[in-house]
Amino acid sequence: MITDKFGRPMHDLRISVTDRCNFRCRYCMPKEIFGRNFAFMPREHLLTFEEIERLARIFINLGVKKIRLTGGEPLLRKDIHQLITRIVQIEGLEDIGLTTNGVLLEKYAQMLKDAGLKRVNVSLDALNDELFQSINDSGVSAKHILKGIHHAKQVGLEVKVNMVVKKGMNEQEIVPMASYFKEHEIPLRFIEFMDVGESNGWDLSKVISKKEIYTMLSNHFDLEPVDPSYIGEVAKRYRYKGTNAEVGFITSVSESFCSTCTRARLSADGKIFTCLFASGGVDIKQMLRDSKSDAEIIEVIHQIWGNRADRYSDERTEATSKNRKKIEMSYIGG
Ligand code: SF4
Repeated sequence: MITDKFGRPMHDLRISVTDRCNFRCRYCMPKEIFGRNFAFMPREHLLTFEEIERLARIFINLGVKKIRLTGGEPLLRKDIHQLITRIVQIEGLEDIGLTTNGVLLEKYAQMLKDAGLKRVNVSLDALNDELFQSINDSGVSAKHILKGIHHAKQVGLEVKVNMVVKKGMNEQEIVPMASYFKEHEIPLRFIEFMDVGESNGWDLSKVISKKEIYTMLSNHFDLEPVDPSYIGEVAKRYRYKGTNAEVGFITSVSESFCSTCTRARLSADGKIFTCLFASGGVDIKQMLRDSKSDAEIIEVIHQIWGNRADRYSDERTEATSKNRKKIEMSYIGG
């Protein structure tokens, strides 16, 4: 097991498989910047499935237990199920999930399940179609995403729904979303609006904190806290009393959790990042393409993780947010 400067092990790996997305959502890919002519990564820059599998094997040998596939939108990567099949066969891996906007979920859920995927996290920021479409700028309805969510559950995938809450954008959807997913016993997680990347127009006044959301929910539901299921669990979870339905909060802004952050990130073009808010990553793809040995790559990963001292959310202020260059979430994965 390798640990960073604060003794945090490397336990999770997020692998971005593409920087493309079929949404231009206001949260991570605003259309003013990621317009129709935006130049996404050329195909030859993307890690191949062979390269990703090799790196996944190395990371798992170094202690990673959980892998999550992200993007951009990971279901846009052709034959993603073949990558899942390769990764699930690696000894030592305990969990594999995928984060998606849900547009292609109905189409691919069965294939993902058959390939060995265990869970999907689906981003959905509103049930109201007009609002949802104004957020994602793609003409896709919330009903379409809901169909994908229900289908994924039906085929046996564990499903969670993630809702980013931003003041002035979708706070009126908090209670309807909670009601809907309580009724269907699908865990919903409210995510505080974060300053990921440089293009989402973040400032502190647009954040609705966990405390505020919890207060809103308490006016409608009886909630009781649920113990974390493992050390370092990111979401703070609650159960609706008398049911099996749960709701969670991801409190990156109001109650940061850097001290237990065990996540490494691999971008679609093969750079390793040690924090969602990193300014830069270390290119490992060239090592693969220069036929470096596993031992040489392991040595580099050891150095990267051993030197890790990230705790951006612990230190976040308006000033740090504005003064720091940050990688876009569509590039680094959520
Ligand atoms: S800010 Fe960075 S170190 Fe802190 S929890 Fe987020 S990803 Fe981890």
